[in-house]
Amino acid sequence: MVRSVTPLPGALAPGESGPAARLALAEQLLACEDPRQCARHAVTWLAREARLGRALVAGRSPEDEEQLGGWAGHGLDEDAVESFVLPLSQSKHPLVAAFRTGEPAALPAGAQALSPLEGAAHVAVPLAGAALLLVEGDLPLAPAVEWCAAQLSVRLGELLARAAERREWAARERELERHRARAHELEDRVQEATAELVVQNERLRRQAIALEQASAAKSQFLANMSHEFRTPLNAILGYTTLLLQGVGGELSAAQRRNLERVDTNGRHLLEVITDILDITRIEAGRMPLHVTEFEVPELVQEVVAELAPLVQRSGLEVSTQFAKRLPPVHADRAKVKQIAVNLLSNALKFTHAGSVRITVGYQAAGGNLVTLAVSDTGIGIAPENHEKIFEDFQQVDASPTRPYGGTGLGLSICRRLAEMLGGKITLESQPGQGSTFTLHFPRRTRRT
Ligand code: ADP
Repeated sequence: MVRSVTPLPGALAPGESGPAARLALAEQLLACEDPRQCARHAVTWLAREARLGRALVAGRSPEDEEQLGGWAGHGLDEDAVESFVLPLSQSKHPLVAAFRTGEPAALPAGAQALSPLEGAAHVAVPLAGAALLLVEGDLPLAPAVEWCAAQLSVRLGELLARAAERREWAARERELERHRARAHELEDRVQEATAELVVQNERLRRQAIALEQASAAKSQFLANMSHEFRTPLNAILGYTTLLLQGVGGELSAAQRRNLERVDTNGRHLLEVITDILDITRIEAGRMPLHVTEFEVPELVQEVVAELAPLVQRSGLEVSTQFAKRLPPVHADRAKVKQIAVNLLSNALKFTHAGSVRITVGYQAAGGNLVTLAVSDTGIGIAPENHEKIFEDFQQVDASPTRPYGGTGLGLSICRRLAEMLGGKITLESQPGQGSTFTLHFPRRTRRT
């Protein structure tokens, strides 16, 4: 006899579950920190409350985020659960497709060859993008299954978000640690470099002192030597002058020629020694500045007058031009004069035909500058030699057979003197087109 079983009032149909059971699972899930353990609780609960034959939860494995592995099962071999692996790259796989969509999918019996729940229709329920619940049955899901899947999904979502957060913090901590290590390394390097610098500075300081001492000793030596040379040389030249004047009696033509050679060479030597003395005195800081008030045009006239014999011998026309309203200057008159003499005698020396012009200019605006330019129509200087000729002993033609005399020190002295005046010398020149050397200096020399 077949008896129909009437459900007791309040009893639950399969797939339903009471509030007490639900509360129990909710508490279990809340207390559980391990996603796999949560899956186990859920599967056990489902088996009991929804009376499922077989069920499986597969989730992303921690070793490889791009594949699902068996987490917990019911009604299945433990081995079948453990060994279940589903690479998420297999986008055509029905379980992967269900996982990706996030919507429960029914898999009819027969399509299960790819699923561990073989032999029966079953449903794949994606859980929070982290796991997949497979349960026997069809859609719609029994209320207990739906409820359990939702609970598990929420809890897994929380746990995975926390794990991701922890991973991010750990990564940041690692990054921070790398930065700290790098900072320590740099600190060490800076310390090493600083120590090395201290040593090098000390070495350089000692070298600088030694160099300074050597340079002072050299200047002192040259100054003394130049002085010692000049005294006897002046005596020699004095005697040759006397002899040339016939004080010692009439000279034969050959004697006079030889004596004149002695005189010329002696004077050249005196010029060299005087120039060297000037340079050493400037370098040793022993060339004092005597600032007085004077008129530049007057000084220029004086220079032209002093070099009149040279001007006459050159056969050149020398003219002067002065700026209007040129005020008196406060500078070292002797130094300005020495520069002017040098520039004019060079102009006369290196000009065969034409003229020499001395122009004095004044710019009240832009620094109160005075300019004294000596222009000639002489042989000119190639641009590549413009710097060189201001260096010690440098001449455009330094060959022993050069047609022009000189020491090659005149311009280097002029440059130094100009600097002492707070000024400079500039040059404009082209070969065959003459040269213009210009001294620029402030109307009032500032003492340093
Ligand atoms: P130096 O005693 O040889 O004249 P300087 O230092 O006065 O020495 O000049 C250096 C060189 O610069 C000269 O030898 C010459 O080659 C060149 N120089 C100087 N002034 C002139 C000029 N007005 N025209 C052409 N060349 C010049």
